[in-house]
Order: sequence, then structure tokens, then C-alpha cells
Amino acid sequence: MSRYWSPLVHTLSPYVPGEQPKIAQLIKLNTNEHPWPPSPRVAAAIAAELAGEAGQASGERLRLYPDPTASALRATLARLHGLDAVQVFVGNGSDEVLAHAFQALLNHRRADGTARPLLFPDITYSFYPTYCRLYGITPQTVALDDRLQLNVDDLIAAARAHDAGGVIFPNPNAPTGSGVARAEVERLLRALPDTVVVVDEAYVDFGAESALPLIAAHPNLLVVHTLSKSRALAGLRVGCAFGQAELIEALVRVKDSFNSYPLDRLALVGAQAALEDADWFERACRAVIDSREKLTAELAGLGFDVLPSQANFVFAAHPQHDAAALARALRERAIIVRHFSRPERIADRLRITIGTPAQCDALVAALREILRPQG
Ligand SMILES: *Cc1c(COP(=O)(O)O)cnc(C)c1O
Repeated sequence: MSRYWSPLVHTLSPYVPGEQPKIAQLIKLNTNEHPWPPSPRVAAAIAAELAGEAGQASGERLRLYPDPTASALRATLARLHGLDAVQVFVGNGSDEVLAHAFQALLNHRRADGTARPLLFPDITYSFYPTYCRLYGITPQTVALDDRLQLNVDDLIAAARAHDAGGVIFPNPNAPTGSGVARAEVERLLRALPDTVVVVDEAYVDFGAESALPLIAAHPNLLVVHTLSKSRALAGLRVGCAFGQAELIEALVRVKDSFNSYPLDRLALVGAQAALEDADWFERACRAVIDSREKLTAELAGLGFDVLPSQANFVFAAHPQHDAAALARALRERAIIVRHFSRPERIADRLRITIGTPAQCDALVAALREILRPQG
């Protein structure tokens, strides 16, 4: 607290990201990073950008500002998804893209000045309530069902009952890993034609159905992607959004009122190189999915209840063991996973990022030891 702070700052409740501890030999399964390095083309493209033209001093290109419209990267993304470049927006990680969407598309009021709430699941990405506070948006949650699934009829009913000004959810959801079928997303878009629906597809490449094919027919749909998870580039900070030009223009207006150059030169070329390596992408997604299916079966064998996951993590509870205690015991063995003590409904679960086969084996061996009855 400080008398120098703007009043808003006193009301914020900042997002707390998973820790990045400096422990030797750490098996890090807590922030849904990719277990393998990115496509080697990424480092090659960044090195070429740093080298610049023949005869130039190394780093010469860094003297100049990057392309403020990221036109080459946006063209690559458009080609990849069969869209037009005016239907593509990029930002410094999808968190920034989401923040702009909250401000540009999800903050609505009625004629009498009262706020129309933003709908999202009660168990979801915890950055959403954080952005609501930052932008003065009223949150309205919709409860997941008993199996922690998102029900589209419940979303539609709540949107109508509360006169929602927008809807946002991750698909697959985080931290549950469960996806909603494209046909269900389409039913939602049709039911709420005057409401923007943001589908946060951070994990879609690990086996869920993308809503991208719905963009052509649905002007109220914004789809958000990131290169942090399935492209193994959490450290490069590149996210993007797809939607009809009218929605994208709103994001551009906010972005150009905030930061003209959210992506630096190295991120622009690195991201483009990653997107162009289709082989790496297919192999890496397949490897994570295979690792996930094996880990799911092994955890079930240890007595865990594991939600079926379409993401690069699983969400598991053990009926006889306290989740926080399990996380602590794993930590003592240099394995970190994520435990959310809130909401209470999920306090019995651990969110475990899919690691390499060797990391998953180490996790299972450690859990077997921890779960063994003491004698
Ligand atoms: C990881 C994640 C993001 C943010 O990714 P960036 O690294 O900021 O691109 C957004 N939404 C969900 C649901 C996530 O899990």
C-alpha cells in the first residue's frame, strides 16, 4: 500500500504464475511448458536476424524498430489457418492478447450505465478474474457440472439470465483439460449472436476441436492461440487472435493505444520459423499426447481419478491422499506440480504437466514411493 498509488492499484489482485525455482535436476511439471525444445528453425531464424546482412555488424538490425503490424507473421498465421491477414492479430503472449480482448470487446454497459457481466466457468484460467478487476468488468461465473465439464446450455441460460456483455472460456478448459465439441461452440455462437464469445484455445493442438472453421459464419467469435504450449515457445512470448476483421480492428485500436511494438524482431522471426515447421509440430504434439495417455493409465493404476484430458496436462485426485501433501512430498523429490487450494471443489486435485517419458516415469516412481503404506 502506498499513498502514491492510483486508487485502482489498491483494488487489483494480480495473477500468480506457477513458480520457476532454481533447483538442480528439477522435474518441472507445474506450468504446462512443452517438455521438448522448440523447432531448431527458431534459433536459426533468430541467429540470422541477429547476424543481419553480410558485412553488417552483428545486431545491426536491432537498431531499428520492428514492423508494428507484424505483417509477415500475420500472413503466415493466415495461410496456416485459411484466413485473411485482416482476420489475424498478434501480441506479446496470449495473455496480452486476452487483456486487449477484455478491454476492446468484453466490457459492455446497458443504456442506464449499469455493467453487463462477463461470463466464464467457475473453474477456469485464473487470469480472467484478474483482468476483470483491472478493467472494471463484473465477472459472472457458470458452474462446471459434477464431472467438471462445461455445459453449453448452462452458459446460454446464464448469458440470458444475466444479460451478459461477453463470454470467455478456454477450450480445452484449464485446469481440467476437458474440451467442448465444435458443434457445441457453434450452438453457443448461434444462441448469442449479439454477444462476443472468446474461445481461448491455448491447448487446442493436443487433441481438441478448434473453433477456427466457425469464424467465417460467426462475426461474434474470437479465437485466441499461443505459441507457448504446443510450439514450445513460452519464453518467446507470442500469442494471436483470429476473428472477423471487425473484431480484429477493435484489438488493433487498443494495441495501438498501448504499445505499437509488442513483438520484438527476434520474436517475430522466431515465431514465423516455428509456424513453418509442420513436421516438428506434428511429431511434438503426437509425442505429448502419447506421453499423456501413458501417464493417465499409470496414475489410474496408482488409484488416482484422472479427468480425461485433451491438453498437455492431467488433473488428478487421489481418494485417500491430500493433494497439497502429495505436492509437498513430490517437491522434496525435486518434482513440482501445481496445486490450487481454491476453489475448494478442485483442492483435492493436482494439475500435472505432461513431461518427457523419462520425466513421467520419474513422477510415477516417486508417487508409488509416496503412496506406499508406511510400515
Ligand atoms: C498458458 C495459457 C495462456 C497464456 O499463454 P501465453 O504464454 O501468455 O501465450 C492463456 N490461456 C490459457 C488458458 C493458458 O493456460
